[in-house]
Amino acid sequence: MTPVNFIGWMYDIAREQSPHQDALGEILRRSAAAGYNAVGLYLEYRFAYPSAPWAAGPGCLTPEAVRQLQAGTGEQRGQAGVRIIPFLNTLGHLEGFIRSEGGQWLAEGAAGFGGVQMCATRPECAAFARDLVSDVLEVFDDEWVHLGGDETRQLGQCPRCAARVAQVGKGGLYGEYFGPLCRFVLERGRRPCLWGDMLLQHPQALDAIPRQTVIFDWQYFSRPRESTRVFRERGFDVVCCPSIQTYNASWCFLRASQANIDEHREDALAAGALGVLVTTWELCYFTNYASTWPLILAAGRRLAHGQDWAATVAAEGGEAYARAADILGNRIPATATLLAPGTWRRMRDNLVIRQNPFLLWRVWRTEACGAAGDAVLRLCDEADALLPDPEAPLRFAIDLHRVAVEWVRAAELAHRAYAAGDLTGAVDALSAGSGHLRRLRPALERVAGAGGSAADVARLERLVEKVDLARERICALPMGAGQRPAFEVLIEEAYVAGDQAAWACGSANAQRQGGGG
Ligand SMILES: [Zn+2]
Repeated sequence: MTPVNFIGWMYDIAREQSPHQDALGEILRRSAAAGYNAVGLYLEYRFAYPSAPWAAGPGCLTPEAVRQLQAGTGEQRGQAGVRIIPFLNTLGHLEGFIRSEGGQWLAEGAAGFGGVQMCATRPECAAFARDLVSDVLEVFDDEWVHLGGDETRQLGQCPRCAARVAQVGKGGLYGEYFGPLCRFVLERGRRPCLWGDMLLQHPQALDAIPRQTVIFDWQYFSRPRESTRVFRERGFDVVCCPSIQTYNASWCFLRASQANIDEHREDALAAGALGVLVTTWELCYFTNYASTWPLILAAGRRLAHGQDWAATVAAEGGEAYARAADILGNRIPATATLLAPGTWRRMRDNLVIRQNPFLLWRVWRTEACGAAGDAVLRLCDEADALLPDPEAPLRFAIDLHRVAVEWVRAAELAHRAYAAGDLTGAVDALSAGSGHLRRLRPALERVAGAGGSAADVARLERLVEKVDLARERICALPMGAGQRPAFEVLIEEAYVAGDQAAWACGSANAQRQGGGG
């Protein structure tokens, strides 16, 4: 296999990661050893920008930490001298700024605090972005600085932007915003980079983007052949970007990720792209980097040396990891429609992300209480047996699947007891259910202690609170009453004791159904 020239991967620090200095050094060293020649640090608001001190949260990456990393050339950055490329966002995905005190003014459009995007027209917003870029140029020494620019779906929402869009279109507005920002970078002797999605949606924006800009063409669910060709024909250098599919999975869709990476390598070579950047995203919401490192490093080996996938994963994680990863990443997703590839993390979405674990009971009760649930539990046992160390990073992903099934089964028992009028039985089943959820706590604390999401520990508490609340509500029901609220009403945020028609609960549920939950 011919290797591509640029072989990088991107670390999503923006999603609640607080990597320790020594761990970052080790990651760079191992990345270089695996065959990577670049590591991107996706920062958003998780960098201590001197120009925006009000946005620097606990554990965010500091300029000092980056300088130390860059100073550690030889050993720390690997003999190959792996590049450290800063990835910002400078228009969309500014939610961490907008939702911090002092950053509300950035928000685009009527959504305000509820939005994720900055205004593309107000000059003070462009100045804010230039300051972030200047901060990063001051600290990072790489030639490239990535300005983000993806998923700017709110273009044209505020009256000023809407007026501009009416004249020049969304692509015109996008180009008017990013053209000058790219030139700002070029004037400082560096190369700007942008994600390709909005440029593909609004090709006229390309007219305003300087040709020296590097386009990062991300195609996670298809190959980049056609899209990369569009950019190459317009004279741009391109990096093709596959993803390791953890953000959309219960743990990872392994086979799909590997196929996606292979397709990007092939198409990058065929189109004369600079290379491949393996993206990783959102390693929070009960996922983590610790269980994913061997997959990331294996992708580097594959891209650099063309080694067989199974061999690369075993080389980085060990034989037992490779076999357990096959169970978690290939076999478990095949057991249940809720866990299948293409379903967008429905298990984690309904267990943790929406902050009410009863939602998982609602969408998964039939499968989890039946043969599919049995199959998941059997595969969890098989994977556990491969990894006898209870603190092995992959054990959390196994436990998460097991707890999900056991929690849904407990909630189902509670529902059945409640329906039969056995309120004590319902309360006992819910107590068992919250016990299952609590089992996740030690591993979540370990992940947080090692630089992963600290919010996940607090998220688990919210889940347990929801179960405790349902239990209290059952205990508070009037004794001997003929009518009881439906179980589905009791578990809603909007439940009010004595409100038999429960309009608020019903409409919350209808909204959720409409939202595709
Ligand atoms: Zn605006």
